[in-house]
Amino acid sequence: MDTSHVEGDLVNVLYTEDQIQSRLAELAAAIEKDYEGKEILLVGVLRGAVMVMADLARHFGRHIEMDWMAISSYGSGTKSSGVVRILKDLDTDINGRHVLVVEDIIDTGLTLSWLVSNLESRGPASVEICTLLRKPEAQQMTVDVRYVGYDIPNEFVVGYGLDFDEKYRNLRSIGTLAPHIYLI
Ligand code: IMP
Repeated sequence: MDTSHVEGDLVNVLYTEDQIQSRLAELAAAIEKDYEGKEILLVGVLRGAVMVMADLARHFGRHIEMDWMAISSYGSGTKSSGVVRILKDLDTDINGRHVLVVEDIIDTGLTLSWLVSNLESRGPASVEICTLLRKPEAQQMTVDVRYVGYDIPNEFVVGYGLDFDEKYRNLRSIGTLAPHIYLI
């Protein structure tokens, strides 16, 4: 697919398709090692985590299961408030299961803190988090993020599942938007 017309909207590319894939392969290898002998349920958070989930899952050489949640976080502007509503819940009973939440990006971490305590109330054997990107503020959050692809600066990024106004999710790389796109 030719995405060059949208890729032209990026002021710089932070991570290329190849860099993303090799980092996901490393994360999958670390996860496989840590979860040896245990079943894993990957829980993707819609919609941003679709690409990460699809590619991370295919780097595993072992069985995994996948399920999805859709949540909406009430916030003002671009910041989330931590007040969350479930739009689509899991189809899987996670009681006794090893749950690995798969995220695209953690910004304040408020949405994720809420999600983790919600999942923990269902009696899983464990709940851990894997995110491709993490912004600086999230490093102060109380929830421990076990697997992080890249720590990035505090700027707005798009591509590879991440959107601006629901667009750019289909880019294969991740980058920062050119100001002329959002300053209109
Ligand atoms: P928080 O961690 O609760 O602040 O919110 C994380 C959510 O905000 C992510 O799942 C994204 O949907 C969105 N988000 C945060 N930073 C960015 C960004 O740089 N680009 C696109 N979406 C972002």
